[in-house]
Amino acid sequence: SAKNNGKNSYRFYTSDLNEKMLEKLEMENNLRHAVERNEFMVYYQPKVHMHTGRITGVEALIRWKHPTKGMIPPSRFIPIAEETKMIIPIGEWVLRNACRQIKSWEELGYPAMTVSVNLSVIQIQQPDFLEKIKSILKETGIKPSCLELEITENTIMKDFEFTNNILNALKKLGIRISLDDFGKGYSSLNYLKQLEIDVLKIDKAFVDDITENDHQQAIVKAVIDMAHSMNITVVAEGVETWEQFKFLKSLNCDKVQGYLFSKPLPVMEMEEMMREKKKIC
Ligand code: C2E
Ligand code: MG
Ligand code: MG
Ligand code: MG
Repeated sequence: SAKNNGKNSYRFYTSDLNEKMLEKLEMENNLRHAVERNEFMVYYQPKVHMHTGRITGVEALIRWKHPTKGMIPPSRFIPIAEETKMIIPIGEWVLRNACRQIKSWEELGYPAMTVSVNLSVIQIQQPDFLEKIKSILKETGIKPSCLELEITENTIMKDFEFTNNILNALKKLGIRISLDDFGKGYSSLNYLKQLEIDVLKIDKAFVDDITENDHQQAIVKAVIDMAHSMNITVVAEGVETWEQFKFLKSLNCDKVQGYLFSKPLPVMEMEEMMREKKKIC
């Protein structure tokens, strides 16, 4: 390692740094090309209503099909896209794509459902963010109530007042707001009261051991009850087993999203699933 090399360590550290910078530069370059070359795709994962057993919405999740490296998961490129601000054109691309999809499903006669899109804090911070949203709504001609925007607690906590103002402006446009990854980060129930959100998504980490951990159960129950008292719909993320499903149902959770029902799917497969129109649970 660099430390054991005595006076050579400076050089080692420098080349380490250079390597990191090069890697980042390469990724940034790749991301730029990915937009131009249409290497991104949007997959959709269904959200299922626990009581009716039907699909009530889908979440749009970006996928990157790199020509030589294959599928690169968002966890690997979203952080770099944020750091390099490439998330601005990429996020706009996802949003436009999802809104066109809403229109297309409406025209094809699929039952109305909400499509949710993840937003990065970097996007929200752009001065023309609201204008962009408005122009995408106008250009695609969708009902704003069909669009749901997902933001994480961390995004909100970066600048609570600022973000809350943006969220209120989005709500005025008729867009639904979802609080993503709840319980993963800062998690305070206090600020929930000050936020005008429609949906709260309980993070997978809570769902994972919900059938075994009494402490987690108590927290999830409190979160669901509190959300309901504020007219907020609760979605559980990352539900993989029937045990988790049954447990969440007993706690009055409203909707579930997870591999139990489906992984995120390409459009054609998602449409196939929607056409089946059957009760899933
Ligand atoms: P997220 O918004 O919390 O999305 C849910 C993630 O959990 C997705 O991972 C989904 O595939 C995964 N998931 C759903 N059900 C299960 C399950 O039962 N088991 C397991 N193990 N995983 C499940 P994915 O698609 O890899 O996305 C990861 C994260 O990347 C997302 O977390 C979101 O934060 C971010 N992301 C994805 N697409 C976009 C995008 O278009 N824009 C931005 N800004 N972020 C995005
Ligand atoms: Mg999400
Ligand atoms: Mg999440
Ligand atoms: Mg997540």
